[in-house]
Amino acid sequence: MNKRVHQGHFARKRFGQNFLQDDSVIENIVAAIQPKNDQALVEIGPGLAALTLPVSDRIDHLTVIEIDRDLATRLIENPFLKNKLTVIEQDAMTIDFTALSKKLGQPLRVFGNLPYNISTPLMFHLFEYTHAISDMHFMLQKEVVNRLVAAPNSKTYGRLSVMAQYYCQIIPVLEVPPSAFKPAPKVDSAVVKLIPHKNIPYPVEDIKSLSRITTAAFNQRRKTIRNSLEHFFNAEQLTKLNINLDLRAENLSLQQYCELANAHSAMSQ
Ligand code: SAM
Repeated sequence: MNKRVHQGHFARKRFGQNFLQDDSVIENIVAAIQPKNDQALVEIGPGLAALTLPVSDRIDHLTVIEIDRDLATRLIENPFLKNKLTVIEQDAMTIDFTALSKKLGQPLRVFGNLPYNISTPLMFHLFEYTHAISDMHFMLQKEVVNRLVAAPNSKTYGRLSVMAQYYCQIIPVLEVPPSAFKPAPKVDSAVVKLIPHKNIPYPVEDIKSLSRITTAAFNQRRKTIRNSLEHFFNAEQLTKLNINLDLRAENLSLQQYCELANAHSAMSQ
């Protein structure tokens, strides 16, 4: 049997389709999510409903966002699901999650086995809506989960770590081997829980400053901060901010990046 065919559907690589087929992994994910009635659950990429079915066993209503028209049609026509689902046939990258939360009348609980080819940009998109989200559970490449939780002074610490930790508390939940999927991906996976901070620990005046500074620093992570951030600060300004000029991007904490961002916003006013 063709490795890419699952339940009569030919897995589309361009949509990052790797379908969960391991019941114990599925059970563990649903147990971690703990879906309850009267919560606004939203699944990104329901696919062939491996998570959608057990989640909707526990609740009366669920919103799902699926880009693949064939899969969306299957969901709309599924006799066990059709009365419970609102199917949004759309690219999740274009969803306004604030509007969705307003429509559902409460903060969202977002989850999904994310398409790995767009998981990082999709998380950056979701970070813009953390005020409208109460938590998120995602299956990701294990390497991405390692980057989300990484602390300074490590190779995995990067822009994704800083931006994710700016917005959220991050809790790894479960590691998942390639054999849990069909077709099996080439890499290990992991489930992670992200809880948006109610009060951002180190708030910045302008998130664009934090975004631009972390981009400049980590795009040239081998350079010293003095060199990689030369378009933002001179040596004297960095020293005044208590930043050692010889540090590299991976040595600066979230708090230091936020202080740099605020200093930059203040200077540009
Ligand atoms: N949830 C299913 C499972 O666990 O078996 C499928 C997971 S599969 C890794 C990713 C799913 O996301 C697929 O159904 C795919 O069609 C869908 N998808 C891919 N890109 C998407 C996008 N930009 N917006 C919404 N859904 C997308």
